[in-house]
Amino acid sequence: MSRLGNLKLAHPRYELFYVNDKKIATAEDKAKSLSGDRYTWFQWMKKMMLLNGHHKKRELIHETPVGTPVIAFINHGRWVAICPACGCAEVVEPKTPIFYCLNCTNRDNSSLPLPVKFPRSRVKIEDELLARKKRQFRNWDGKMTLTELRTETSIKFKE
Ligand SMILES: [Zn+2]
Repeated sequence: MSRLGNLKLAHPRYELFYVNDKKIATAEDKAKSLSGDRYTWFQWMKKMMLLNGHHKKRELIHETPVGTPVIAFINHGRWVAICPACGCAEVVEPKTPIFYCLNCTNRDNSSLPLPVKFPRSRVKIEDELLARKKRQFRNWDGKMTLTELRTETSIKFKE
């Protein structure tokens, strides 16, 4: 059985194996880590969609997201978004902003991928959070301004 076939999927809160100190991690980092660099995140996500049984044929897998975008935010050094149907979090990828919930398979969206909304100032937000040494302090709620983030860093997260 392939490594992907053996995957035990956990809530991202406990999935920190693909997060490193040098960058804010994305779904691409997770896919590479899980597959030993064999799959891009999009290829990995498609595999997951096939494995979950909701998509019996490859042709049924839609690459174009439809519906109301989910909002990307940063939690413990990773870009994530919350599933609007079941409340589970999934890691997301700015280069391929598509959300697919591995828990409920986007059940409220006919099992089709949802768009993901990343902030325009994504890189600046990442840089600001990377100035915080501890990963658990690298959080952005999807709303805070850069100024607010900088203030928070200088008051709470100097170390
Ligand atoms: Zn879900």
